[in-house]
Order: sequence, then structure tokens, then C-alpha cells
Amino acid sequence: MTHPETARDIAAAVQAGQTTAIEVLETRLARIEQIDQQLGCFQQVRAETARADAHRVDEAIARGEAAGPLAGVPIAIKDNIMVQGEPATCGSRILEHYVAPYEATAIERLRAAGAVMLGRTRCDEFAMGSSTEHCAFGPVHNPWCHTRVPGGSSGGSAAAVAAGLVPCALGSDTGGSIRQPASLCGVTGLKPSGGRISRWGLVSFAPSMDQIGPFTRDAADAALLLQVMAGQDHRDDTSAEAIPPSGLQGLDAPLQGLRIGVPAEHCSADNHPEVNAAVERAVDTFKSLGATVCDVQLKTTELGVACYYVVGPAEASSNLARFDGIRYGRRADAPGVELEELYARSRSEGLGAEARRRIMLGTWVLSAGYYDAYYRRALQVRRLIHDEYAALFKQVDLLLGPTVPAPAFKLGEMADPIDMYLCDTYTVTANIAGICGMSIPGGLADVDGDTLPVGLHLQGPVLGEDRILQAAHQFQQATDYHLSQPPGAATSTCS
Ligand code: GLN
Repeated sequence: MTHPETARDIAAAVQAGQTTAIEVLETRLARIEQIDQQLGCFQQVRAETARADAHRVDEAIARGEAAGPLAGVPIAIKDNIMVQGEPATCGSRILEHYVAPYEATAIERLRAAGAVMLGRTRCDEFAMGSSTEHCAFGPVHNPWCHTRVPGGSSGGSAAAVAAGLVPCALGSDTGGSIRQPASLCGVTGLKPSGGRISRWGLVSFAPSMDQIGPFTRDAADAALLLQVMAGQDHRDDTSAEAIPPSGLQGLDAPLQGLRIGVPAEHCSADNHPEVNAAVERAVDTFKSLGATVCDVQLKTTELGVACYYVVGPAEASSNLARFDGIRYGRRADAPGVELEELYARSRSEGLGAEARRRIMLGTWVLSAGYYDAYYRRALQVRRLIHDEYAALFKQVDLLLGPTVPAPAFKLGEMADPIDMYLCDTYTVTANIAGICGMSIPGGLADVDGDTLPVGLHLQGPVLGEDRILQAAHQFQQATDYHLSQPPGAATSTCS
């Protein structure tokens, strides 16, 4: 099996002068040119911006300087994270012509580490969705099977890494939007704990749950990217003052004595059988690596989706109020109409069905008379979920289960929004509680004749990223699921 190139491989080769940042970039640009028309991962590739970044790295190396741990590594950015001077559409018509006036902290840190901003990837509108079908500019196709979704909302980023267009990409995860597409596309996706990476420059969806995180080929790259981006930032007062993550250090420490819990509620008989089989295989692998594995209960699992779809829309309805065609966003062409009518028309024209549904839902649960019954109740449930995890992490070090109940579904197949929401059953509770989670490839499944990846979900306590990364890394040392790549990315052999 050929090893897909990691960010570490690229940075080492660039720093050692075996290749240049510009050469790495041109190869990736050519590949995108060749393949991305069929996949639709990129909203926009900005070759000139990327070349400027790459030249800066090559010049630093020519001067004999260390160009950083990500020297010359091309990275794709979800289109809801601000890259200064570049558009940031958030997958929405209302922000089609919006240009980011400042740089996200995560981007600043990546650039300082030598990374090259290659382009922006498609996502569900305002990161609301699990399939990237709610992107106003067109869907993204799963590189494993072009008739299937890549997951969402960060579908473009996940698919771009899976197809080998970039070694790594950024996404955001409010309820699963990094982990679920990572699972469906067969790549590694990390949702750091709340507060780990500054949200400055991430367009808010539900800030109490939003986190930026990386998609990579393996856990070691995820550890490296996390280390680069993590840290307190005075521009995001929810960012945590914490011991920095250890990066690559400690990843090889033995798992002897590590306690892993497998929540019974996540191994439901309703899951796709191949999903449960992958978890069983992983349990054996972790045991052979010296971990102890036990069954645990996570009873609040069944409350997660209901809680998330009250809290999330409530915060979103308030955050999205600014996109009204006056302060921000595309204004309806309606000269002479009253202000209220102008707001209504601008928002109706600019926002898609799912975003409007969330705004209505959120406005309703916050309205007088319903606030106590829904929003306040959801916050009480949030506390229960938080407390159950806290108690569980006294018994075990991390949790293992499936990331999602089933592999990638077909484009257009999930017509009922509730069915789509239920894709998030195993992922939302981590955001609700603020803990960290990641999805790693756990094998391939045959689904109606299509070969599709299955993901494993590792969850750890707040700021416990080092532990889940260490476990994921060792798992990847012992297995080769993460090395599988879609057949020739350009042509799909599935039905
Ligand atoms: N699928 C979830 C939703 O639609 C999660 C989105 C996210 O994490 N941004 O809200």
C-alpha cells in the first residue's frame, strides 16, 4: 500500500531542501485542476495567494531560517473561516461577495508555522448540515463514490484530504461537522475541546459549541496541527488558558493501563452491521496494545440530538440576525420598500431552506412562553450530559464507539431533516459538554456494492486531546485503515 503523503513528510522535505514549497504547491494545484471538477471540494482556489505564501517559505529557507513545523504544507480552509482579503461565503448566497477583513487566529498561527493557504472548501450553509448538500454553490461528492455525500458540514475539507488534493484541511465542528465527514471520507478528523483553539475569525454558528479543527491523513499530523493552532487568544474570551498540547511528543508512549469505555448506547443494533464490526475489531486492537476495555453506559446519548437542536438553533438565530442585507450580506434589489420588507426580502433571497429552518426554530424556542419549555429545559439537559461525561471520565480515560450510525448515504437520499439530524446522535454530546473527540478510519465496508469507509470515534475529557491522539496514533501504527485511499479519486468505480 502506498503511503499518502503527510504534512510531516512535506515539511521535512521542504525544510531539508529536497523540494520547495512552490513545487509542492504546483503539484497539488495540478491535481486539483485535474480532479476537483468532479468532486466540487473547492469553493475557490487562490493560486496567487498560495504562491505568495509558498515563496515566503522558500525565501526563508534560502536565507537559512527554520520555516516552521508546517513549512510548505498546503492547506485547505473551510469557507467559514476568515483568511484576510479572501471571500468567506459560509456556503451562503447572502455572503457570496463578502471579503474577510481580518485573519482568523488559527490561520495566523498556521501561516506563522509555514503553511500555505491553498483555497477555501465548500460547506453546508453556515455549517448547518451533515451532507454538504445545503451549500448554496453546489454539493461535494464523496471521493469514494461520487453518487454519495462526503458528510457535512465540512464536506469539502474532508473530501479534499481523502482525494489527496491536500494533505490537511481545516473544518469547524459544532455538532459533528469535522468528525462525521472524516468518518464518511475515511480520513482523520479532530474536534478539540471547547476553548482549545481560538474561534476568532470563525463565523459563529453556535459559539458555545463551535470549534475549529484539522482534517489530516493520520493522528500524528492532527497532533501537529493542533499544537500549532492551540492556545489562549485575548480576542476570543472563551479560549482556554491551558497547558499546551504536546504535539508529536508522547504519541509513542505505550497504552499499557489505558482504560477505554465503550458506551453501549453507541453500539446500537440499528447501526449498520459493518459499523459495529469495526468497533469490535478496534476493541481487539486496543486490547492487544495493552489497554483495558470495558462496557459503559452513556444514558444521555438519547437526549443529545434534542438538546443540540434547541441550543444550536437558539444561538444561530441570534448570530445570523446580523446577515440582514444592511449590516452584512447581499441586499435584495427592492428600491423604495420599507425597512422591514427589505430585511425580509434580503434574508429570504439570501438564505437557504435549512438556515431559515434553524432561524425559525431558534427564534421560536427563545420566544416568550416557549423559552422555559424549550431553551431553559435544553440547558438543564446540557448539564446532565456534561455531568454524565464528567463521572464517566473518572472511571475511564477515553471512550470508543462509532462516529456515525452508517457509512455515506447517497446524494439526495436524506429528504427528511430529522433523519439528517439523527446522523449526529453520537457526535453532538461532545460539543454540548465541551469535551474533545476525533474520528479515525476503522476499515472499509461494502454497502450495496460500494466500498465505503467506516469511522471510529474516540472521545476524551475537556483538554484531553493528548490522550486521544496518543491512542489514535498507536492504533494507526498497529493497523493500516488510515492508509486506504479512494480508487484513483478521479474515477469512481461505484454504482
Ligand atoms: N450536522 C450538525 C448540524 O447540522 C452539525 C453541524 C456542525 O457541526 N457544524 O448542525
